[in-house]
Amino acid sequence: MYPKEIQDLVDAFSQFPSIGPKTAQRFVFYLLRRNSNGLEQFVTQLRNLKHIVPCSVCGNFSTQKLCPVCSDAKRDKSLVTVVSEPQDLMAIEGIGEYKGMYHILGGLIDTTKNISPQSLRIKQLLKRLEDPQVKELIFALDATMEGESTTLYIINIIKKVPKLSKQIKLTKIARGLPLGAEIEYADEVTLSDALKSRKII
Ligand SMILES: [Zn+2]
Repeated sequence: MYPKEIQDLVDAFSQFPSIGPKTAQRFVFYLLRRNSNGLEQFVTQLRNLKHIVPCSVCGNFSTQKLCPVCSDAKRDKSLVTVVSEPQDLMAIEGIGEYKGMYHILGGLIDTTKNISPQSLRIKQLLKRLEDPQVKELIFALDATMEGESTTLYIINIIKKVPKLSKQIKLTKIARGLPLGAEIEYADEVTLSDALKSRKII
């Protein structure tokens, strides 16, 4: 119905999370109304995403080998908070109270979606724990079945290594978060309380 150039972009936007074909069409029509400068700017912004790489330590979005958190000498290296995605890190950073480090798993174990422990950054996490500076591992995964089973999976590995379980306190953020809650969407007060009143596991 549309020229191929338009239809291709509608199809591309339709693949975005929670974007249907109607919204995808609106995006393309909006872009068509922009002048060529505006369009060029958008293309540049898209192209710049290619410069984003995962931080070599925590897996956060970064333009350097180390992300701003990992390269900040003032951060407390004894605390490492385990999160699922960079958005969760952003949510916790948004509170402005936590001064420790992070480890991003890149997802949660989910057999229905074929996400296995091997496809997450668990091996990298265990490697980081060999650093004797690490004293506490805080699990801040979603309050969902996938979040719980991922936490359990990692805890079981650590508890089997006497050296690690002696060196590192394992904690989980408190369940001020309602069941099923995703860290990314938790409000700041809830998230702050959940982090402060964490429980030993
Ligand atoms: Zn980092």
